[in-house]
Amino acid sequence: MKTEPQAHKPESPPEGPANVLVINAGSSSLKFTLFSMEGEAIRAKGIVERIGLDAPRLLYKRFDGKALKRKAEVRNHSDALRVVCDCLVDPDVGVLKTLDWVEAIGHRVVHGGEKFHEAVQIDPEVKQTIQSLAELAPLHNPPNLGGIEACERVFGDIPNVAVFDTAFHQSMLPSSYLYAIPYEYYEKYGVRKYGFHGTSHKYVAQSTAEFLEKPLARLKLITCHLGNGCSITAIERGRVLDTSMGMTPLSGLVMGTRCGDIDPAVILYLVRQGLSADDIDRMLNKKSGLLGVAGIGTSDMRDIIAAAEEGSEQAKRALHMFVHKLVSYIGAYETILEGADAVVFTGGIGENSAYIRSRVVSKLGCLGCFLDEDANEAALDCAAVISTPKSILKAVVMPTNEELMIARETVRVLTGVEEDDEKDGDS
Ligand code: ADP
Repeated sequence: MKTEPQAHKPESPPEGPANVLVINAGSSSLKFTLFSMEGEAIRAKGIVERIGLDAPRLLYKRFDGKALKRKAEVRNHSDALRVVCDCLVDPDVGVLKTLDWVEAIGHRVVHGGEKFHEAVQIDPEVKQTIQSLAELAPLHNPPNLGGIEACERVFGDIPNVAVFDTAFHQSMLPSSYLYAIPYEYYEKYGVRKYGFHGTSHKYVAQSTAEFLEKPLARLKLITCHLGNGCSITAIERGRVLDTSMGMTPLSGLVMGTRCGDIDPAVILYLVRQGLSADDIDRMLNKKSGLLGVAGIGTSDMRDIIAAAEEGSEQAKRALHMFVHKLVSYIGAYETILEGADAVVFTGGIGENSAYIRSRVVSKLGCLGCFLDEDANEAALDCAAVISTPKSILKAVVMPTNEELMIARETVRVLTGVEEDDEKDGDS
């Protein structure tokens, strides 16, 4: 989203970086997207997979569709980044004359704890804090930091910006983010709701405001990110009031392999039955959700829908649970927002499955939301209103773009544009 220069600003912000590289470093992968911020166009994107494992490889795609897939001898994130950089400046498939053309790098960082309410330029203190937050995100923050340090090694002095999945949710009040357990556990261990997918929820909220031609500062939205991981967020005037993921990304909606909300005493019961913490962790994170309930060996929503259509009762039950939980949250968030303007669907399922959207919206009549079936069928991976004109609560499909949001945040941080200036302006 490009915002027009705001009349009330004393002067327009300094021009931002022209080429921004976005890095998403996981434990064994490094995803990258290179944006030209002029027109917000993707110049090239790809992934190095299986870092540190056998048969690592690079998948690369240029803006004009030219692509390559090749073996990459990489042991760590620095090796992987060097392979990516070689590709970006390659005379045959590359898009840059020299690496100097990359002017800034934005990094996805999963956990920013309570410390980071927005994206920040990375310095030694920020790195130290990301490291210390590894306790809360042991699978994510260490590789995220690995990606940052690889960029520092390969790119030298180019500014790096950290964009946190948790930051957007930091506007929640204690009544939303505290669990009803003794307060000392929050003080001593940081036990609270942090929320995740924040970069996606923020992007989708801003894009929906732009699409509906209303300032974000005057909208109440319920954004549903439905991918392999699923979360839902209540957003009032650009600020999160509540979200379904918690201290970890396990709580809330039914997901591909994660259980979502569950009575915590189930875990204690299973411990007393002799299961170990690791067993239970694996079961709740990797074997539950659609995979566990449908029991047909897949967590892929397309397969679950196909199996249900072929008559599988368990697949039908899994779909029913998925929809039931989502609708329950929409009802709750409609109440805490005291009436939302729109419920927004995004993520692989939200953007592509007219079937799931239809099942969800057909339950929202009591909230004044009615499905326009033709619009719903036509809305595939594009922005669309899928509710009828008489609906009080609109239903909207809005594709997410976390990489672009990270690139925009990187530019915003480096040009010193205040977050609130954006919120108050027309989005
Ligand atoms: P991730 O959370 O890993 O980024 P995605 O946002 O790509 O994942 O979402 C993946 C999910 O989207 C999978 O469950 C997949 O089955 C589902 N999906 C993609 N296309 C469709 C479709 N046409 N109908 C139903 N589900 C779909």
